[in-house]
Amino acid sequence: MTLDIPSMYFVGVVTSLSMTLAVMIVALRQAIPGLKQLAWALVANSGYYLVLGARGQIPDLLAIGVGNMLGSLTLTLVLLAVLCSRHARMPPVLYIMPVVMMLVVSLVLIHDRESRLIIASFILSYQIALILWALLRAGKIIVGRGRMIMAITCMVGMSTMAYRALAYWLGWHEITPFQSRDALTTLFYMINYLGMFFLAFGFVLTTVEQGAEQNRRMALEDPLTGLSNRRALFGAMDKLFARAEAAGQPLSLMIIDVDHFKNVNDRFGHQVGDTVLQHVATTIKQRLRSNDIVGRIGGEEFLAILPDTPSDGAERVAEELRQTMESKPVVADEQEIGVTISIGLYSSEQFAATQTPDTVIAKADEALYRAKTNGRNRVETADVPAVV
Ligand code: GH3
Ligand code: MG
Ligand code: MG
Repeated sequence: MTLDIPSMYFVGVVTSLSMTLAVMIVALRQAIPGLKQLAWALVANSGYYLVLGARGQIPDLLAIGVGNMLGSLTLTLVLLAVLCSRHARMPPVLYIMPVVMMLVVSLVLIHDRESRLIIASFILSYQIALILWALLRAGKIIVGRGRMIMAITCMVGMSTMAYRALAYWLGWHEITPFQSRDALTTLFYMINYLGMFFLAFGFVLTTVEQGAEQNRRMALEDPLTGLSNRRALFGAMDKLFARAEAAGQPLSLMIIDVDHFKNVNDRFGHQVGDTVLQHVATTIKQRLRSNDIVGRIGGEEFLAILPDTPSDGAERVAEELRQTMESKPVVADEQEIGVTISIGLYSSEQFAATQTPDTVIAKADEALYRAKTNGRNRVETADVPAVV
């Protein structure tokens, strides 16, 4: 199959400008990191098609020099979009140099099509490799289909460019005149055209996925401590209880309440109170195992679920937690604030269907109440009837 290259340029301009418009409409309404850079990349890409498409009608120096530079600039802007969306950085010289080099190479080698094509292909291959690096390594790893689409597009683009450079360099393919319709040139234009489409589509999809992930996290996370919230805990409890029952495993649960927390707020202010809550959350999280689940169920009340943990183990953990809290005052506002906790513990050696989150929490609450009335800063265990 061969393609009419000038028509491809025209379609390229129209597609790029349409995508720019669509992205701009979203970027103007919402501050999505990287979306503005992506819109500029699409503008540069339109310019690239426009200038190369006008070759023959405008001076070669302009068509080739500016055209190639715009192609390279497009990739730099895509890279900036990816870096921005992942809150990552890299030394500017790494992505500015290729654009400058592309312009210089295109102008210096204006009459040497072969060398120009080889060097330009290597530069583009390097630029795509940078985008791939930014996608896979920089910043926080976020798994998503959009990112996968972008990564695959980069791999295909990078390999095509590297192959094109090597093929011309080592003589695997003849260098054909501009706008010729041989297979390699056709393939190059197709990948170039579709590559930008998939990069833009993958980027937009990634931002949508990131938004959905953020919403999901916000719905399940306590914003003050970063622990699970009530909703997440109750969801997890249903599953963990069913699993413990099916496997005949023990399970323990504790409600942890900060003692006289109202006094902390009254004496030091609400903000210091919040710092104390964060400290308590961190201490609990650090002491528990990674498969234990801990969250905040109310103002200064935390719930921890310890799967596959019998009563003696849970009592030890609870007691250690109580002692750690007692021995380590919280430092907030350059003051040391002594904080103690009371714990109501519920342990079941063997779970039964009658043990639901509500009944179990009620039992742990009773134990907590006992800990409070017996003087606070202590652990009390709920009476659990033996399961027959
Ligand atoms: P006890 O030892 O009996 O548990 O006494 P307490 O003062 O800890 O318990 P009480 O239930 O009387 O008071 C809890 C306080 O927690 C009241 C409320 O102002 C405070 N509180 C609830 N949520 C937050 C929060 O998110 N931040 C801060 N700083 N305080 C909170
Ligand atoms: Mg309290
Ligand atoms: Mg309380």
